[in-house]
Amino acid sequence: MSSSLTTSSTEPPSQLQANLPPVPLKYIPLPTPLPTFQTPPISLTATAELRVPCRRCLLDASPGEVLHLISYDHFPENSTTPYRGAGPIYVHAHDCGFFTGDTLPQRQLGRLMSLRAFNEEHMMVAAEVVEGVDLERVAGEMLADQMTSYVNVHNAKPGCFAVRVERA
Ligand SMILES: [Zn+2]
Repeated sequence: MSSSLTTSSTEPPSQLQANLPPVPLKYIPLPTPLPTFQTPPISLTATAELRVPCRRCLLDASPGEVLHLISYDHFPENSTTPYRGAGPIYVHAHDCGFFTGDTLPQRQLGRLMSLRAFNEEHMMVAAEVVEGVDLERVAGEMLADQMTSYVNVHNAKPGCFAVRVERA
């Protein structure tokens, strides 16, 4: 995991042990409740060209499906971590059901992802940007260190929160 760090890096180093064998994972979509809408949220209809990923079922929307674009804070409501903050996510307008699989849907693994490891106090202890195909391995390495409580995954380019990862 520290392979991307160089002596010229200005970023803080990972606080985690490097090269631990990855542990099995579980995926937690929408770890905190969705906000209740005071006014109707922004909605859009997916098309063949615009297939955005829903953060509840973790599937890309099929053409014709309606999604809400909302602001969402994925940290626990009672946490005072400075990392808190709401950001944009898409979620199906209909009740699509929470993702329960053991591996992420293939289309999620085709994107550039940001992985941020947090300890029990919701403070960041490591961060990496990886190709989606490397997400499970790197998240598994981060969670192999007991200092990590969970890993928050974001789409690296637009910054949307994607899913929380924990030890299975
Ligand atoms: Zn959905």
